[in-house]
Amino acid sequence: MNIATQAVQIGLEWDTRTGAVTVPVYQTATFRHPGLGQSTGYDYSRSGNPTRQSLEDGIARLDGAARGFAYSSGMAAIANLLLLFKTGDHLIVTEDLYGGTCRLFDKIFSQYGLSFSYVDTSDSAAITAALQPSTRAIFVETLTNPLLKFADLTAISALCKANELLLIADNTFLTPYLLRPLDFGADISVYSATKYLAGHNDTVSGLVTVKDPLLAEKVYFHQNSVGAVLGPQDSWLTIRGIKTLGIRMDRQEQNAGRIAKWLAAHPRIKKVYYPGLENHPDHLLMKQDSRGFGAMIAFEVDKHELVEQILMKTSLISFAESLGGVESLITFPEVQTHADIPPELRARLGINNLLLRLSVGIEDCDDLIEDLRQALEG
Ligand SMILES: *Cc1c(COP(=O)(O)O)cnc(C)c1O
Repeated sequence: MNIATQAVQIGLEWDTRTGAVTVPVYQTATFRHPGLGQSTGYDYSRSGNPTRQSLEDGIARLDGAARGFAYSSGMAAIANLLLLFKTGDHLIVTEDLYGGTCRLFDKIFSQYGLSFSYVDTSDSAAITAALQPSTRAIFVETLTNPLLKFADLTAISALCKANELLLIADNTFLTPYLLRPLDFGADISVYSATKYLAGHNDTVSGLVTVKDPLLAEKVYFHQNSVGAVLGPQDSWLTIRGIKTLGIRMDRQEQNAGRIAKWLAAHPRIKKVYYPGLENHPDHLLMKQDSRGFGAMIAFEVDKHELVEQILMKTSLISFAESLGGVESLITFPEVQTHADIPPELRARLGINNLLLRLSVGIEDCDDLIEDLRQALEG
């Protein structure tokens, strides 16, 4: 069944008593025991809640996983996954990484004896060179933030299998609708569901899917032990968002493709990063592996003054962090989302004071282009 269809079905199966077509919000902390030593399957909402489970089962189906897990944010989900490692373990990480993930690794988990090497994970030789005897995992973003590099999961997962490493893929920018990392040999997918999955800029939420049932048991133990779970209301909002994933992503990608071409032809734009453009270095690989190119665009203007002008003059497109929702948003990564990346690394990657990142929404494309045109041309 197509992912778009499966997405609509989430929550539909739940309430067999009344036949409600959406899962109810089980706003309860605890559950009555039917008898001594007996359980309805639910005892306490940190350990399990029907609304959350409906979402967890749903994302597991979309991703072809044994189990899914829902957390209070994408960062909580990633932090929970790091509990799979112990002091002395080393991870190889995509260098062009979400700033918050970089901060979590370098400022917090490094204090507990984990170490991280940042490499260009699109280069197998660079990964091999970073391998250490204590390396336990490779953490990649399937489509990176903000420079939109696409990971060659087939090559990376072969390297992981050969060296007995876990492969963890942050698939936030693509979602299972465009790519299912577990089909390419990843062990775990992680999502900031705040972005495309929930899709309406109205809730913060994180999801994890795990391929192997035994590894999923461990992840569940950590989820329940630490307790950064997604509440029932936010679980319901995330399900409600996922139902329209297919049509939203189709429309957003269609808009992004047109806007990327329009930007590329504009005299004041120096560079456009969008994998749907044929001159993007990962265009062909992505065309082969992914169902689409997504709807994130990064671009460089020709003068720094233009950065502030665009951020202030766009009106339909909001100057705000986050991405993936129905509303178009624009941000300045150097100062906003990527301030926690060390300056040398930012410079090497190309995150500079000319670079803007655009998350294209579902608005009418002509209106979006007009908003960009009037902002750029003053
Ligand atoms: C936003 C984001 C995160 C963090 O998720 P939150 O829901 O904000 O905690 C992690 N990875 C990527 C790629 C993101 O865009």
